[in-house]
Amino acid sequence: MRHLHLLALVFTLIVLPLVTPQDPATPPPARPQASPSPSPLPPATVSIDNYRAPAGRIIGAALVSNRAWERLAHLTDHIGHRLSGSKSLERAIEWALVEMKRDGLDNVRGEKVMVPHWVRGEESLELTAPRPMQLAMLGLGNSVGTPADGIRAEAVVVRNFAELDALGERVRGKIVVYNAPFTNYGATVQYRGSGASRAARYGAAAVLVRSITPVSLQSPHTGGLNYDQRQPKIPAAAISIEAAELLQRMHDRGDRPTLRLKMEAKFLPDAESANVIAELLGSEKPDEVVLIAGHYDSWDVGQGAHDDGGGCIIAWEAVRLLKELGLRPRRTIRVVLYTNEENGLRGGNAYRDAHRSELAKHIFAIESDSGTYRPEGLGLAATAPPQVRSNLLEVAKLLAGIGADGIAPSGGGADIGPIMREGVLGASLDVDGSHYFDIHHTESDTLDKINPRDLQLCVATMAVFAYTLADLPEPFKGSEGTGK
Ligand SMILES: [Zn+2]
Repeated sequence: MRHLHLLALVFTLIVLPLVTPQDPATPPPARPQASPSPSPLPPATVSIDNYRAPAGRIIGAALVSNRAWERLAHLTDHIGHRLSGSKSLERAIEWALVEMKRDGLDNVRGEKVMVPHWVRGEESLELTAPRPMQLAMLGLGNSVGTPADGIRAEAVVVRNFAELDALGERVRGKIVVYNAPFTNYGATVQYRGSGASRAARYGAAAVLVRSITPVSLQSPHTGGLNYDQRQPKIPAAAISIEAAELLQRMHDRGDRPTLRLKMEAKFLPDAESANVIAELLGSEKPDEVVLIAGHYDSWDVGQGAHDDGGGCIIAWEAVRLLKELGLRPRRTIRVVLYTNEENGLRGGNAYRDAHRSELAKHIFAIESDSGTYRPEGLGLAATAPPQVRSNLLEVAKLLAGIGADGIAPSGGGADIGPIMREGVLGASLDVDGSHYFDIHHTESDTLDKINPRDLQLCVATMAVFAYTLADLPEPFKGSEGTGK
């Protein structure tokens, strides 16, 4: 068994970093280099003996409950996608507040956050030469629109920024098409994030970005872009892999394809929204907090099922289940459904600002935002002290029976990022995300892409970690720590 344990540790330290899905909103921090002989961790200073029975009860209850599925179905089918500023996001917030109170959770409230209100409007992309053809497209979030009759221009296709730089001023007045094949999300998403401003520097009229995905069935993927304030703002849209390859072939043959791009996208004045918060108050140290979270907003396509309706329901259902089981930990478990992760991160920043004085008592934060797939454990921030990693590996053993006992070498989340930068320990709920980017930010991010059993397993995993971390009598950081 020792060999097995050692193998598991080696797997966690070396193999998982290669396959763990990345947080979708922000490029991941650089992974620490895997060394051939990782330095051994100190022995755990926490004991999980008292938690085997509660963990068994939690897992058993999660696996026979369909409450999470029913709630996710209501959120996705009856409310739908939830872009910041939309009526549907506000409807989702009101519904959660009512239901959380009905669940008997503590201190249920919405904490007001002003959010950007970007609207897509009508949009289209037409190939006008060498033959007329409509191309599937989705404007990129935060993009400006085109003039009312669109932008008509020749397409210039590049595979990367080096090819763009080599062309330089020759793209002036043209529509630059980035046809960069997907390697991993963090590396490829830079074309979506900064491609518009990089091309605007050379006078391009607009850009089209091959969708950030490894596979495609003519499906464009939206997502946020960031304009460089020093460059003119030009319209930007995602196209399918198929369209990008078609344009590439035409360009390479010297066909000089021309396009007409029409987009009504624009910003309206900021809108009022809220972070949704509910708690299971601690029995002994209610001012100490374990925070569990997802983000409640989504893009304005599909249903925001994997991104991140599922993550929100996982966190919410974890505390509801603990309440139903009569498992009240010593410390408080706080659920936060953050607003505006996708195109602003105003929710995460507002939480940090509103709770700054309590952050020293936030002992741990877990965000679920990598899709609702079979859970593998947690990804612990690479900067976490070795004693914390050792203790978390010990707690994770409670989930070995469902295969969710991995602790990956890095993790975190976009929304808990602001409080992690203030020193709060943070982790991501890690899942088998091998198909996440197939449907990420598309019309296909719908409930049918979620396996109900995976959702139950995610609830079980989140609930066991949250309960145990919130209840451990020992300081989680080790003997010299304060439990923070
Ligand atoms: Zn997300």
